[in-house]
Amino acid sequence: MEAKVKVFLLSLVNILYNKLPETLDKINRKKHNLRMSMIGNIKQLEQKCLAKGLKMTAQRRVICKVLAQSHDHPHVDALYERVQKIDNKISIATIYRTLRLFEEAGILMSHDFGMGRAHYEISPDNTHHDHMIDVETGEVIEFTNKDIEQLQEKICEQAGYQLIGHRLELYVCKKK
Ligand SMILES: [Zn+2]
Ligand SMILES: [Zn+2]
Repeated sequence: MEAKVKVFLLSLVNILYNKLPETLDKINRKKHNLRMSMIGNIKQLEQKCLAKGLKMTAQRRVICKVLAQSHDHPHVDALYERVQKIDNKISIATIYRTLRLFEEAGILMSHDFGMGRAHYEISPDNTHHDHMIDVETGEVIEFTNKDIEQLQEKICEQAGYQLIGHRLELYVCKKK
């Protein structure tokens, strides 16, 4: 009986051991894909800057990297903190200047979100989304809703206008 259990355990270990490289490979591939898509985003952002005639300095590259990795609509202080972790010689003035430049070039969008300060995100390419702001945590949730989009167009049309753009912010708190 004991021997049987031993054999069973050994074969179990064997199976797990044989599966291990496969599992590790899967994890590594996933990590790799994530990293590649991140690099893709950074490269894309740099390309956009170059296309707008902006010179890519080392400092701007760092700021691009942080922007491409930030999906939480950060404000300038949060961006400054993230940039500092990569290069602590980049001043907040440089960040302000770069953000303004990127915004003027249409690469970056800023939102007030009713919090009295600018929150940034990379301008989406040919896509659109709206925002929900959790007023208790400051968390920004992105959403899209076809009905709302169509309704807005209808309202404008009925008033004799063509809708050329909009921003929609919903202020929310978690249901208690
Ligand atoms: Zn919308
Ligand atoms: Zn957004």
